Amino acid sequence: MITILKPNTPIEQRDQLVAWLKEQGLEVDISEGKEYTVLGLVGDTKAIDVDMLEMLDIVEKVRRVSEPFKKANRKFHPDDTVIDCGGVKIGGGHFAVIAGPCSVESEEQIIEVARRVKAAGATMLRGGAFKPRTSPYSFQGMRADGIELLLKAKEVTGLPIVTEIMNESHIPLFEDVDVIQVGARNMQNFELLKALGKTDKPILLKRGLANTLEELLMSAEYIMAGGNENVILCERGIRTFETYTRNTLDISAVPALHAMSHLPVVVDPSHATGKRDMVPPMAAAAAACGADGLMIEVHNDPAHALSDGAQSLTPDQFDEMMKTVRTVRQAVKGNE
Ligand code: PEP
Ligand code: MN
Repeated sequence: MITILKPNTPIEQRDQLVAWLKEQGLEVDISEGKEYTVLGLVGDTKAIDVDMLEMLDIVEKVRRVSEPFKKANRKFHPDDTVIDCGGVKIGGGHFAVIAGPCSVESEEQIIEVARRVKAAGATMLRGGAFKPRTSPYSFQGMRADGIELLLKAKEVTGLPIVTEIMNESHIPLFEDVDVIQVGARNMQNFELLKALGKTDKPILLKRGLANTLEELLMSAEYIMAGGNENVILCERGIRTFETYTRNTLDISAVPALHAMSHLPVVVDPSHATGKRDMVPPMAAAAAACGADGLMIEVHNDPAHALSDGAQSLTPDQFDEMMKTVRTVRQAVKGNE
């Protein structure tokens, strides 16, 4: 349920109402928008008398929220959420570009890629240390050593780092990581989501291989319900009957998620297409439809990459892609 307060409601009266709602056993999420203050009520709201609430002088409107996701809902929080990722903002007009290799492979590799993507305009560095691979015989990642190398690359370039977690017991290893990624395969690992809800790290939550947008938002809700509201959503392609591309990029997820939720939305065209040549045009499409950021795989020697070489851009190709993305963003902004 949401309660929209009248403009210029005195803070003391707002706080009195909030205290009363809390006494009724509800959790109250206060969102101070540009015009209105919205009180998002979570819990068993059946006992609340909507007519009585609406009669109060300070209340403009009361509405029941039918969607099962509450804290992630745009109705609870009309303004875009802006998340600080180790000094780099994302959301609400702040566009972030997360680039780097699929896997961290060596110190030379990650530092060279970090330098090159930074020079091209990336704002964060990605690199998998714990890798979720389809085959147990494929490279599984450098694990804790990979995180150490990412931290070295951060020291050299200043880029905040984004890397994937696969197991709740590894959370202590991520203490100095700026953004923790939950991969597509773990989108519904609810125990992991609950554990991440107790941290204060920004979480990049990737859409599952065959999950609906509502399921993605329910997974975000798991993290937010634990107290961590710093969730970034990521569209990375879904399984369809099409086999030409690795997955099918659901570009319409961007405006749909923006309508449903206040959380920032990032697009990963690398895992969506699986094909290097398709990454720049899909990145441009994401920028054109209002994505808050991109996640792009870049490798200094894609032909010899230990994972996902076929979808990795070279640093030069990434540089070209960034020019196009900037032009597209400029053109879209010009039309606003
Ligand atoms: C990744 O980003 O490294 C990754 C494994 O992606 P996804 O979870 O989207 O497959
Ligand atoms: Mn990959």
